[in-house]
Formats: sequence, structure tokens, C-alpha cells
Amino acid sequence: MTILFIFLSLFGLGGQNMFDEYFTGQTFRFDYYHSGTAKEEHISLDEIRLEGSWPGSKVNLIDESNLGKYMFEVVDLKSNKVIYSRGFASIYGEWETTGEASKMWRTLHESQRFPEPKDKVQLVLKKRQDDGSFIQIYSTTIDPSSRFINRSPLVSAGEVWTVFENGSPTTKVDILILSDGYTAKEKDKFHKDVTRLVGVMFETEPFKSQKKNFNVRAIDVFSAQSGISNPRKSVWRKSALGLSFNSFDSDRYVLTYENKNLREMAANAPYDAIIMVANDRKYGGGGIFNLWATVTSDTEPSAYVFVHEFGHSFAGLGDEYYTSPVSYENYAMPSVEPWEPNVTGLFDPANIKWKHLVEAGTPVPTPWNKEEYDKYEVERQKKRAKMVEEKATEEQMEVLFKEVKQVTTPMLNKNKFFGKVGAFEGAAYESKGLYRPELDCIMFTRNDVPFCKVCTESIVKVIKMYSE
Ligand SMILES: [Zn+2]
Repeated sequence: MTILFIFLSLFGLGGQNMFDEYFTGQTFRFDYYHSGTAKEEHISLDEIRLEGSWPGSKVNLIDESNLGKYMFEVVDLKSNKVIYSRGFASIYGEWETTGEASKMWRTLHESQRFPEPKDKVQLVLKKRQDDGSFIQIYSTTIDPSSRFINRSPLVSAGEVWTVFENGSPTTKVDILILSDGYTAKEKDKFHKDVTRLVGVMFETEPFKSQKKNFNVRAIDVFSAQSGISNPRKSVWRKSALGLSFNSFDSDRYVLTYENKNLREMAANAPYDAIIMVANDRKYGGGGIFNLWATVTSDTEPSAYVFVHEFGHSFAGLGDEYYTSPVSYENYAMPSVEPWEPNVTGLFDPANIKWKHLVEAGTPVPTPWNKEEYDKYEVERQKKRAKMVEEKATEEQMEVLFKEVKQVTTPMLNKNKFFGKVGAFEGAAYESKGLYRPELDCIMFTRNDVPFCKVCTESIVKVIKMYSE
């Protein structure tokens, strides 16, 4: 009996029992407004919404990854025990570091999904502090039997279709792809775009060897017009999901602020991760941890962007590049280790967080031809900025992208420690003081390289969290 019990516990049936003890099997969505400035922030309740069956893991209810700028917790009131938690990042969390946040207030709508509890629970939001620890910024008590829970039926957003399916949503990573800026006549184009992008993703490691742990579905969401808004070129569209270029005044950054609308549509299918594909010729995308990823369909590197942005949104990977301009003005150099698994402040080189992947003989920090690389990058960033200003065509931009690839591939390749894990200075928008694990990676350049070993390992960990 005892041996059998230990055996069952080891294989996660303890987790499933906990799920059945506390949860009904349906999904609740906590909708709220996140408001503030660079100096203060406030959370206010919108509503609790009933979605469909719980698509997440019934075993890994507690998030032990320590990823994300924020943490969401569900606390059982009777036992005062955390019964569900997830780390996440948000548009608000990025916005508060922009110049605009020093001058004005803004409000962004956010959601956290969790299994419907059987009894009263406390919902808690925590924020990571400069020292890396979390403090509570909001809590509220909800009673699942309350008549204020919105239990109205979901409204279909369009046809849900399966790209591929390998099993029950509770033991697979469920990716949901939604279309934006596609008219009803462009349905076939959306299906082709999805097939192509998903095809490249599952030819890329670790997704390739982990494919059996995924389900991929899509929803045909149609817009009145083709394409999405591009304010820098005075292109305005009322697309179904509200995606737009130029988020935070960054030309290529594609986000939507219409969270409620998006969540209502997405609730029509089981999902752990959302990717929105925008029907547009212009290069762009975005990815925020545990929120969603975006990509435009028709640019030459679209499949690359699809995989890179999913690295952000799914596994909390940081950008490893540091020469492209971004809008995060109030970004403070961390005094403690950044939470992103693939960036280090190298505060303790002998105990670097990816130490187990560093081979003997690789010095930390690891030397590389940074001066040569930086010199080239400064020139080409100037060129790119000028081209954006002069409203260059996408074809002209792609010529530049190709040139960068041709120059930087051999430039990085010739280093002694290419392909080795170490600590290479320059990462996460900082030229100095932050380090990336390998010379090149999908999170660093658009070159024909895989995810570095640290990024690969981090992605596999998150896949396990959803598929065990
Ligand atoms: Zn990497």
C-alpha cells in the first residue's frame, strides 16, 4: 500500500487529487484594469468570467519557475494555502518603463485565468521588486457561488480548426492562433500562413522533438479590411483584434490594447498560449511572457519572428540583442540577477545560473570580437533608422536584413567559443553589464542559428509544466 502510494505521488496523482479537491474543472477569468504612472500603480476589478473546461495542467498547479515581473496567486480561504499560481509579464509592466509613463496616467485591461474554485478564494497579484522578491500589490476575495460571476454563454468569434492535435488539453501545450487583418475572402491565405509558420516552428528545436506534447488550433477571425494599422505611414484599420504597429512608438512593435475583446474570442477554444498573426507585408511582431505573441504574415523573416516572439511569450526568454533601439527609457540596470533565464548580470561568475551548461575550459566572462561587431551594428542601426524615417519599402528593408546576415554570420562564427555556453557581454538592450549564454541564438540575431542551449533548456521546462 505504502509503496503504491509513493509511486502514485511521484507520478503526479497527488496533484490531480489536489485539483479535484479544490476545483470544479471549469475555467474562471479574472478581468481587471491596471492603471498608473511610472511612480504608482493600481488594480481594479472588472469582472470574473466563466470560460469553458480548464485546459491547463491539473498536476502542475503551482508555478515554481520564478519567471515574470508579476505573480498571480489563488489562495484557498479555509486553509490559507496557495492552490494555483502563475508568473507573468504585461503590457503595463513594459509601458511603465517608457517616457510616457513619467508624464501621464494610463489604464490597460488584463486577465488571469485559473481553474474555477469550489469555495471562496483570495486572488492575489504580486510584483517583483528591485531585489528580485515579490510584494503584494492587490488582493480581492471572490465567492464562486456569487451572482456577480458572469456565466453567460460565449459568443463564437469564427470557426475553430485544428492544425494538429496530440491529446487532451490538460496534458498538452495548447497553442491557439488567431487571425487579424484578414478579410473573409482571405481565409485560405490565413490557413496557408498558419501551416507555413507552424511548420517552421516544429522544424525548430526544441519544438521539433517535443511536438507530441503540443496541440495547435486556430480561429478564423475576420476583419472588414485587409492589413493592420501602421501609424507611421498613416495607415489606419479597424481590424478585429486591434493589432497595430508602432506600439510604444517603436516602428516594428505590434501589440493590441483590446484585451477583453481578444479574451472573449480566444475563450472559444482551449489554450495555454496565444499567437496572433497579422495579415501584413510589413516586418513586425511582439511577445510578452504568459500574455501572447504577435507576428506579421508576409515579411521575408516572418517564420523567424514567429519562433522568436513565441520564445518571449511562452518561456519568458529575454532579448539577447542590445544594439536595436527600444522605448524602455526608465529601465534600471539590475542590482540582482534578471529573472529572464537567458540573461545574467554575472554577479557571481563562478556560480553563473547556467553553470551546468558551461564546459571546462570556457572562461566566464567569455571573450569575443565585440568591438568589431559593435562597430558594424552601430552603422547598420543608423542606416535602419534613416530608412524608417524615409519610409523605406519592405523590399528595401529586407535587402538590409540579408546584408546583416551575410556579414554577422561569419563575424560571430569565427570566434573560438562559438557554439559554446559561456557569458558573452551584451544582452537585453544593454551593451555593458548584461551577458548572454552563447555568441548567437534565435533571441540574438536573425541568422540561421538554433536557440542557444540555455534558451532550449528553458523552453523544455515550460513545455513540461503544461504537458505532465
Ligand atoms: Zn538564447
